[in-house]
Amino acid sequence: MLASRREPVPVESIPAMRSSAAQTIASASALEAVASRMARAGLIRSSQTSAKRPRTAGPFRATRFERTTPEELTATPPAPQRAANGVQWLPIPGWWDLPWLWAGFSTRKGGLSRAYCAEDAAAELNLGFTAADDLENVLRNRRLLAEAITSNAATPLIALRQFHSNRIVHAVSADASRKQPHKADGQMTAEPGMLLAIQTADCIPVLVADRKQRAVAAFHAGWRGTVKRIVESGVGSMRLAFGSRPQDLIAAIGPGIGLCCYAVGEEVLSEFESQFSYARDLFREVYDSNPVRKKYPMLFLTQRAPGHSPIGPSLHVDLVEANRRQLLSAGLSPESIQIVGCCTQCHSDLFFSHRASDGHAGRMMAVIGIREARKHRSR
Ligand SMILES: [Zn+2]
Repeated sequence: MLASRREPVPVESIPAMRSSAAQTIASASALEAVASRMARAGLIRSSQTSAKRPRTAGPFRATRFERTTPEELTATPPAPQRAANGVQWLPIPGWWDLPWLWAGFSTRKGGLSRAYCAEDAAAELNLGFTAADDLENVLRNRRLLAEAITSNAATPLIALRQFHSNRIVHAVSADASRKQPHKADGQMTAEPGMLLAIQTADCIPVLVADRKQRAVAAFHAGWRGTVKRIVESGVGSMRLAFGSRPQDLIAAIGPGIGLCCYAVGEEVLSEFESQFSYARDLFREVYDSNPVRKKYPMLFLTQRAPGHSPIGPSLHVDLVEANRRQLLSAGLSPESIQIVGCCTQCHSDLFFSHRASDGHAGRMMAVIGIREARKHRSR
């Protein structure tokens, strides 16, 4: 989560962006499509139809969501692939048989940055121009990542100035030499020979590829972008720009903060409930399983009577599932969606995490691109 203020949706619109009134109407029909698709897939749950949540306040609040502990939700991180240049990155399982496609998610391992590691630790792969890091190191790290993924350090890598919007740009190779990157949270292209990049350090990166039209896209989805339907809108943009059909699309959701760690305020719940009929499926009440608190509960007692303590479960949201649902509502099949990596905060040794490091974090990149024709056999 790189910005905390509410950002205005830019007026300069791409075809898939609509006025908010039109968007509400469009989303209603999109939601019907999701509901029928989910029903056909046997995934519909009874809670999905309950629109209103009970109005409760204070410590006596009734259980509104399934309750769980972080331990029940954490997953083991996948073993990264190690490139010859030392960069450790996550390939996308199931995409190996697409030789025309470049794609992967970086970790913090590899690289030359010393801004976020202990003095005696190995240098790291910070890929964002953060205040704490040296610009030269970041440029060299980006070349290392391009080399790890494409076997050529000179492959242009196109980044964005992300601002938690649903703005999507059509990238061209000339963008690689722009002084100021485009201000957007999604980009797409059908031009080979370059990598589209999304920077994250807890937010969710989503990569999409069209197997038939050979077009690719990358999206940045924090909670604000998710509520603004960046991914659904992105698939719409791919359809308009390249004629992409949902059944030809494959998608990968990369490492980001997990349901285990992503505690949010009530306003986030309200925003999701105003947008998605399935919003309730995305939230859980997670109990703090702090081992110190478990062992010494007396230390944490307040003057309130037992059971009246305000130290209760916190509300967590599942951004990975939220974006998977958007891909489904855009028409992708569940089998075409890969979830890669795990919670960045739980595994901040492997990933940069904004929350795990109180904002002092480097940036990872999710990249996708089309290999130049002469470098792959046609398929
Ligand atoms: Zn976690």
